[in-house]
Amino acid sequence: MDKCSFCGREKKDTELLIAGISAHICDSCIDQAYEILQEEKKRVDEFDVSQIKLIKPLEIKSFLDQYVIGQEEAKKYLSVAVYNHYKRLMQGNFKNEDEIEIEKSNIILVGETGTGKTLLARTIARMLNVPFTIVDATVLTEAGYVGEDIESVLTRLLQVADYNVEAAEKGIVFIDEIDKIARKGDNPSITRDVSGEGVQQGLLKLLEGSTVNVPPQGGRKHPDQKMISVNTKNILFVCGGAFDGIDKKIAQRLNTKVVGYNAAKDRDHIDRDNLLQYISPQDLKAFGLIPEIIGRLPVLTYLNPLDREALRRILTEPKNSIIKQYVQLFKIDSIDLTFDDEVLEYIVDKAVEFKLGARGLRSICEAIMMDAMFELPSKESNEMHITMDYAKRKMEKANIKRLQAA
Ligand code: ADP
Repeated sequence: MDKCSFCGREKKDTELLIAGISAHICDSCIDQAYEILQEEKKRVDEFDVSQIKLIKPLEIKSFLDQYVIGQEEAKKYLSVAVYNHYKRLMQGNFKNEDEIEIEKSNIILVGETGTGKTLLARTIARMLNVPFTIVDATVLTEAGYVGEDIESVLTRLLQVADYNVEAAEKGIVFIDEIDKIARKGDNPSITRDVSGEGVQQGLLKLLEGSTVNVPPQGGRKHPDQKMISVNTKNILFVCGGAFDGIDKKIAQRLNTKVVGYNAAKDRDHIDRDNLLQYISPQDLKAFGLIPEIIGRLPVLTYLNPLDREALRRILTEPKNSIIKQYVQLFKIDSIDLTFDDEVLEYIVDKAVEFKLGARGLRSICEAIMMDAMFELPSKESNEMHITMDYAKRKMEKANIKRLQAA
């Protein structure tokens, strides 16, 4: 007689009895198991500090290595900053005897556009499994002006945290294009500088950790909107910017510093092609960030421009590299996609030639692969090999102007 192996009910007493290899399960046991599963899932989804994985800097760095090519210095700085940040969060739970308060280590990343600043911040958030959002500093303006209130930065974080305030309060915010809110000109002006200093002053409040009233829907605050209060004390802010022209400020500083006895010798040590590696808080100030903001972003690091070799690696090495993604896309249609090595070199050459950087790799690949992606799924073939000849033909057809706009 068939019986449910879980509750022991006989087949005739159940609505349905499903047979497995060596056991049976009845409908009510399935229902019950499903409920347990849902409960369990909900518990995992609920956020609490003890669930933040405290991962050591070396492990953070090797995680980053899987997704981001090069940028060793930035990875190291980020790993330590994030580790310290989360240690600080944990410490909140059990006060240390000496009452030493560890200060927040907000981060500022300086590097040309498309060198991996956002990718680094995004990868960190993925690893930590905390709410993460990217906001663009250029849309922010002082209260009373056209644009978004500074507080809207936190609206986005609340939204990705499903309005779970506690989770949002431990999230990471990436503020992109922080250089665009630099003060124009070196001397503080008495007239109002809508897009510059005023916004920096506003941001200060968020960076230093305070309770902020956030409009849940974002945009402008208006009187009858109910605000959500969010404490930014434990939110990690990562700022990024290209700081176009900061190399001149760095060069100036280095030149003025290296006068005197050892000057000629020191100057020889300076790598003029990549001055960003010498960046210091002073240069940010010369660029137009106010000292208070700089003080609230104690971890300053830089990203290297991507050379040919880095671009070549980006194409195939990261865990979800562009090429791996195409192979996967074709695999779903049971098509085995391969590339001539030469083609990969060619894609990199084009990206360099048109100064498209890493973002350009994607648009070049897209131009080469478009026809194949369009036609192949309807054909019988189960393999596709991209030869140099094929790639060249497709690239010649493609509109370079369009690629450059990408
Ligand atoms: P940024 O924020 O510095 O302007 P992103 O991080 O948005 O640049 O980079 C744009 C894209 O270029 C990324 O999504 C990624 O595909 C690629 N990329 C850039 N730098 C790297 C890198 N160092 N390693 C791997 N991919 C990179």
